[in-house]
Amino acid sequence: MESETPCTSHVDNQASYDDIIENTEAPQEVVVKPPEVVNTKGSGSRILSRVEKALKLKNKPLRQCKKCQEWGHHDSRNCDKFKEKEKRRSRRNYEV
Ligand SMILES: [Zn+2]
Repeated sequence: MESETPCTSHVDNQASYDDIIENTEAPQEVVVKPPEVVNTKGSGSRILSRVEKALKLKNKPLRQCKKCQEWGHHDSRNCDKFKEKEKRRSRRNYEV
């Protein structure tokens, strides 16, 4: 014959379970921090420094502008003198 009955063991288990619940302290304050913003899709457009811009211009071959006959980094299509003329023309057109 068994000395322990399943009924008593069940009661013991229940008691210990209640003890655990009573003794466990719920956290007083739950601090929720927002997740750090992480950019995983590339670094975006990098801004060139002055030195890098100057280096890029230096590496570019000089070309003679047909409008102002100057050796520089522009040609007849985007010559400063030519642009000024275009502006005047467009202004005249708008006035008429
Ligand atoms: Zn020019």
